[in-house]
Amino acid sequence: MSQTLEQIQDFKGKYPRQLWYLFFSEMWERFCFYGMRGMLTVFMVSQLLMKEDVANLQYGATQAFVYAFTFIGGLFADKILGFRKSLFWGGLLMITGSCILAFNPHEFFFMGIAFTIIGTGFFKPNISTMVGALYHENDSRRDAGFSLFYAGINVGALLGGYACIAIAQSYSWNLAFGLAAIVMTISLITFVFTQRSLGPIGRSPYEVKGIVGKNWHEYATYAGSLAVIPLIMIMVSKTQYTDWFMYIIGPVTLIYIFYEMMKFSVEERKKLAAALVFILFSILFWAFFEQSGGSLALFAANNLDNDILGVNFNPNGVNNAANSLFVIIFAPLLGLLWVWLSKRRAEPNTVVKFGLGFLFLSLAFYVFYATRFFATVEGMTSLEIFTLAYFIITFGELCLSPIGLSIMTKLSPQPLQGVMMGMWFLASAYGQYVAGILGAGMASPNENASLTEKLISYTDGYQQLAVYALVSGIVLLLISPMVRKLMGTVK
Ligand code: GLN
Repeated sequence: MSQTLEQIQDFKGKYPRQLWYLFFSEMWERFCFYGMRGMLTVFMVSQLLMKEDVANLQYGATQAFVYAFTFIGGLFADKILGFRKSLFWGGLLMITGSCILAFNPHEFFFMGIAFTIIGTGFFKPNISTMVGALYHENDSRRDAGFSLFYAGINVGALLGGYACIAIAQSYSWNLAFGLAAIVMTISLITFVFTQRSLGPIGRSPYEVKGIVGKNWHEYATYAGSLAVIPLIMIMVSKTQYTDWFMYIIGPVTLIYIFYEMMKFSVEERKKLAAALVFILFSILFWAFFEQSGGSLALFAANNLDNDILGVNFNPNGVNNAANSLFVIIFAPLLGLLWVWLSKRRAEPNTVVKFGLGFLFLSLAFYVFYATRFFATVEGMTSLEIFTLAYFIITFGELCLSPIGLSIMTKLSPQPLQGVMMGMWFLASAYGQYVAGILGAGMASPNENASLTEKLISYTDGYQQLAVYALVSGIVLLLISPMVRKLMGTVK
């Protein structure tokens, strides 16, 4: 028998059991997503014979589009499909995209990617929103739940990020994309078989309100999402369209949110305004953090030795995997720390956690900068210090990213939950986009620069980012009383 919302939210213990089901669905989805992400640039350069800078820009464009479409996925979930149907549809599209790539990645590359982009848009924000729905409005266990969910994300990211590229390089690209299709199918099957346990959570707004005869809205959404695929294919393959898309989508969504805000009470509007402050700061955070896919990857490839405590590691492997590994180890522990602190009434509020996130980010970039003091005369420096910086940045991420998911679900009124979660991820889209621009600015202007010159050029950039992150953290802490006022009773 399916439970009521109250029965679900009145769960005993630290985590509701439904969280584990969503955890596994999201884990496999992130396996597919990060598996693909890890293959994109390498595939474009080695198989499609694109130039490196073109491949980088194209990579940035796909990442920006993926996250930008979460806003649209969230919007259609709120208004028409509900979270469950959105998730199912998104999953189907992702499987289709991976199957297309598994079948013939060389010929149908952009088509496969376009399916995956739209699919992720329908899947990603809505599963996160459903995690939030498992909790009462003021349940202090919510942040811990999101921390655990976030660990699941990173288990998937770690396994997929490693396995897909390894299979692609040693066996075949078709097989690697096929693996993404298989795990995405596992994700969807997990969801289908466990969704009954969600009771009323994630049903479509029409079902909830008992509105009949509007099925065509649903079918039109499915048809519409298929119809835009050719458009996405064109936009991703020509990156100047991405610039235009990014210039337009942000302001348009902001205007839309302001319009929606007018429909709510002053209290709710204030909470939404607070949510926008968090979203704005998260753009900055991701712009710095996402150096990992760009400038830090090049830095790792050029300037790092391969030794951690006497064991040999591939520096790029460390660059890809260290963060996920640290998240998996520390997310549950930090989650338990929040619960422990909250029992003692000492848990920092969300604004302070965000501020701490930036302080960790700043410290991490100071450590990236400090790698220059451990360099040999040839310009090779320590992988150990580099890994230490990833260790620190992970705490920054954990103070901001899972907490951000959680606070979106707390600050948004029910009819706007999906859209606001989409906005949260849209900030990631901008972060990815700005990260590319920042990274390009850090690269040494001279292609034939020596390793030492490259080291100086990148670490100068990291020092600047450290300063900006520090200033952002201080600004957040200074404005925290104002933001807290906006948040009302939400902590
Ligand atoms: N790594 C996290 C995830 O995959 C956060 C991504 C983001 O918001 N930029 O969900």
